[in-house]
Amino acid sequence: MTIAPSELQTELAAIVGAEHVLVEPDVIAGFCTDWTGRFVGHSPAVVRPGSTAQVAAIVAWCRRAGVALVVQGGNTGLSGGAVPLRDEVVCSLRRLTTIGEVDRTSGQVTAGAGVTIADLQGRAASAGWAYGVDFASRDSATVGGSIATNAGGLRVLRYGDTRAQVVGIEAVLGTGDVVSHLSGLTKDNTGYHLPSLLCGSEGTLGVITAARLRLVPEESERVVALLAFDDVAAALVAVGSLRSGLPSLSAAELFFDEGVALVCRVFGLRAPFSEPHRAYVLVEATGASDPSDALSSAVDSLRGVTDAAVATDAVRAAQLWRYREAHTEAIATVGTPHKLDVTLPPGALADFVAAVPAVVEGACPGAQTWLFGHAGDGNVHVNVTGASAEDDRIDESVLRLAAGMGGSISAEHGIGVAKARWLSLCRSPAEIAAFRSIKRALDPDGVLNPSVLFPPEDEAIS
Ligand SMILES: Cc1cc2nc3c(=O)[nH]c(=O)nc-3n(C[C@H](O)[C@H](O)[C@H](O)COP(=O)(O)OP(=O)(O)OC[C@H]3O[C@@H](n4cnc5c(N)ncnc54)[C@H](O)[C@@H]3O)c2cc1C
Repeated sequence: MTIAPSELQTELAAIVGAEHVLVEPDVIAGFCTDWTGRFVGHSPAVVRPGSTAQVAAIVAWCRRAGVALVVQGGNTGLSGGAVPLRDEVVCSLRRLTTIGEVDRTSGQVTAGAGVTIADLQGRAASAGWAYGVDFASRDSATVGGSIATNAGGLRVLRYGDTRAQVVGIEAVLGTGDVVSHLSGLTKDNTGYHLPSLLCGSEGTLGVITAARLRLVPEESERVVALLAFDDVAAALVAVGSLRSGLPSLSAAELFFDEGVALVCRVFGLRAPFSEPHRAYVLVEATGASDPSDALSSAVDSLRGVTDAAVATDAVRAAQLWRYREAHTEAIATVGTPHKLDVTLPPGALADFVAAVPAVVEGACPGAQTWLFGHAGDGNVHVNVTGASAEDDRIDESVLRLAAGMGGSISAEHGIGVAKARWLSLCRSPAEIAAFRSIKRALDPDGVLNPSVLFPPEDEAIS
């Protein structure tokens, strides 16, 4: 960037007001470090637009001035894509917090990019609806960030990922043009579906400013069970049986003995059972009527369940969920983790789980592997602590293992900067060339998230 910092500040302040251009290093430090602490960048300024028009003016000015932007929502992303690793200006969307009224007929709502997932869920609930996407960072993660990463989370097997919820979008493209299609028509075959394109684009094509989102019926009855297994393969077979035999299944989460022990130690929780077990599956069933009987008869038919705890009230359900949801925070207390979020074909998941620790040990002796995930979608989070942030031998080994077993190197966190080098493990040269063509068309000067998704040519693995 050749522009002087004072000029940059003046130009941005002219668009958003001086109070919304942050430059003090201690004030902007939190915007420059990712949630894990693995990716730490530097920025001359954080600009906080309050409207779509201001976002458009920022992008247009950045194009003219040759200034790169990193787009940021709640900064809970786990692939390093929201922090300025090459001195970009941070464009924070957190001021765009308007939520419209829920359309009770269509079951849709329009929300600003800076609305948190928790606030969106609250607005939906107040109208008797629910938002189908949920995950542990709901209090900070935003609508814009969750669309940009196509977030998955806990209920994908029931409602699909974020892409399945987005029926319309408003965004400022890298050209500076505003595209806005928020009418929310369920059937609308009028050309390319820009919401699908922007969903999962990780801020590389446009800055999402608002979205029209589909809601799902609120299901008032809920039962949660924690099932213990001494064999991982048996746990995964059980998940398959539950998926086919329990229509009210809304979540099936997998975790292991070392993760539960860590969560209990860090948060002072009692162990779920008197004896530890190798694998745990947390199962949730929801419906308009009580799904308890259906869940217990489905569980009775499973093989390999060595212990079980069932919660029919909200307090006990939250206690059981905590064993799973607290994994990410508990692991962060051990050290800065390498976070590798992969999907495997269902038939390969147990072999992958068995193989990963040795692969990590081979790449970085002494490093510790933590596994947990969304078993219903074949998604395992491989977290590794005890390795330096720069050491990417672990990333290389684990991502190659997943891809070699027919999996994907990113299930739901996106490629970001963390996995850009390995994009070619899952995408062909023709696909990456098509991605680049789209990028050039919508962001011709490479203003938006220039380090995200695409590897620098000389760093890409072959
Ligand atoms: C404890 C914890 C649990 C988590 N659990 C899950 C989980 O179960 N499933 C899951 O999928 N993720 C999970 N995540 C990851 C993260 O919360 C999600 O990826 C979330 O969608 C990121 O939202 P954000 O607003 O924080 O985005 P950010 O972190 O700010 O940004 C993420 C990416 O989106 C881009 N971006 C942000 N806002 C916009 C915008 N308005 N327009 C264009 N691009 C934008 C950024 O440039 C960046 O590339 C978890 C994270 C934590 C810390």
